Amino acid sequence: MVNNAPQNASQVLVLVGAGHANVALIRRFAMEPLVGTRLVVVNPDSVTPYSGMLPGFLSGQYREDELFIDIGRLCKQAGARLIRGSLEHVDTDLRRLSIRHQVGFHQAELQIDFDICVLNTGAIPGHDFPTMHPHYYPVKPIRELLTALPQIDQQMSRDGASIVVVGGGAAGIELAFAFRTRFGSAACVTLISKRPFEADAALSAAAKAIRRVLVDRGITCIESQAVVEAAADSVVLSDGRSVAADVICAATTVHPQTGFLTQHFLPSKGFLQ
Ligand SMILES: Cc1cc2nc3c(=O)[nH]c(=O)nc-3n(C[C@H](O)[C@H](O)[C@H](O)COP(=O)(O)OP(=O)(O)OC[C@H]3O[C@@H](n4cnc5c(N)ncnc54)[C@H](O)[C@@H]3O)c2cc1C
Repeated sequence: MVNNAPQNASQVLVLVGAGHANVALIRRFAMEPLVGTRLVVVNPDSVTPYSGMLPGFLSGQYREDELFIDIGRLCKQAGARLIRGSLEHVDTDLRRLSIRHQVGFHQAELQIDFDICVLNTGAIPGHDFPTMHPHYYPVKPIRELLTALPQIDQQMSRDGASIVVVGGGAAGIELAFAFRTRFGSAACVTLISKRPFEADAALSAAAKAIRRVLVDRGITCIESQAVVEAAADSVVLSDGRSVAADVICAATTVHPQTGFLTQHFLPSKGFLQ
């Protein structure tokens, strides 16, 4: 059990997850500490990849070390305690978190009491279609995609190899461009979007320009078609067509990771009650 009762702090604020959302909070805390509040951050790693730079990294604009935010350093600046571990269980009655804590190469169970807890453990693409493809990679968690990158590069190393990006939101579009740059003009890059770009409020104004640049870069774009299945070497579309795929990268609609939530704390339409 971690005794979080600091000498001069009246409440303990625990941030679970140190991705985009909580990094902004830690940074804010570093600039303007909350008097009387002790900050504790729980995250599996002491660095976190910055998704906004992932396409730039994949296309060679950034080095891998530039892609990561140093959470340890940020926590030091904010006077926060960083606990390397994963949340496994929330007891809302006792206001207690159970953490699988990483100590060197070993793992231990740790309990942390909190006054306020902020959960931002991110989201991952859902299983929108069945897949038996051996090289199917969701874009998130980004760390897992980065770990798989040597296999992806290997698959894409022969001329004419094909990669299919599933998901026509901003992330999918950026990834398609990044893969085109990474794998060169000999590769077949296909972007598949369930809806036309106009249906996405964030993209509609730029829809025509996006299509034009996709064509310029030799990226095949298939809109208004859902992937219904991934076979061993292709994806099958809702109209029955097959598109060859040596690699599939899924940037489809994301869902919260809620394995640690109990019946006391059920997610409601993607949000916590
Ligand atoms: C290719 C791509 C490009 C993008 N570009 C942009 C952009 O330019 N601008 C933008 O605003 N958004 C962008 N996004 C979207 C952005 O990534 C998400 O909106 C954002 O990451 C959500 O922040 P988050 O903190 O909720 O989750 P995340 O950033 O995913 O962070 C979650 C953190 O929680 C940790 N975690 C997970 N499970 C546990 C657990 N059980 N216990 C403790 N910690 C845990 C993870 O390790 C991770 O560090 C992009 C996404 C992609 C895929």
